[in-house]
Amino acid sequence: MKVHLLIFWAFCGCQASSISDNDRIYYKWDDQRVICGVSIDAQTSIPTSQYLQAISNAAQQQEVLILYGHKPQRDFSLSLLRTLIDEIHEQEIPFLTASDLLDGAPRAGVFLSFDDAHIQEWYDMTQSWPNETLATFFVTRPHSLKANEVSLLQEMESAGHRVEAHGLNHLDATAFVEEHGLQQWVDEELVPGKTELEALGFNPIAHAYPFGARSTEIDRATLEHFEMVRSLIFYFGRLKGPCG
Ligand SMILES: [Zn+2]
Repeated sequence: MKVHLLIFWAFCGCQASSISDNDRIYYKWDDQRVICGVSIDAQTSIPTSQYLQAISNAAQQQEVLILYGHKPQRDFSLSLLRTLIDEIHEQEIPFLTASDLLDGAPRAGVFLSFDDAHIQEWYDMTQSWPNETLATFFVTRPHSLKANEVSLLQEMESAGHRVEAHGLNHLDATAFVEEHGLQQWVDEELVPGKTELEALGFNPIAHAYPFGARSTEIDRATLEHFEMVRSLIFYFGRLKGPCG
């Protein structure tokens, strides 16, 4: 992901418009099963004002803003996140999860998500959040989780957060499929990433693509095993990212 973004940064050289103007970062209650997040990680260099505008847009348009990040402090600023959380509460819009997006009535909201396996750091971060701040944690390499990490995730789910899937070994789906074919990716990466979480007592219904890597055929195969999938948009102007 970092390499991709650096390449985009190097070759784009363009003045990107505000991220809040990008339609793909909002879920519009249109039964779209592939949602696209915008990163809160510092490497995107998105001004705070643009996130705040996006929250405001979600509130006004009765849509759901999709956000994602990785490791607290290493990848994103906890003070930025707190600013956004406070604004979401200020606007009185709820934090929604995949099941809300699938089953709920159309309404404004924010889908706040975090990727990979920074369990302790995620847990610590959630401890200082205001009430009713709920997030989705897309966990990769579930077979490598330590017992205490599984306990922390279970505690987080009990508090209302969601644990979802992020692949067995965090593979780039498009690269793997190109080399080994779609079925092998489904059998060796996608499905075990779900069943290993299920074996730990979780019930994933959504998958986030590592690196956002996707295609129409990968989406179709993924949605045979999950009800929803999250990819991502690139911030930098004209070049296409995984969400087009
Ligand atoms: Zn990841």
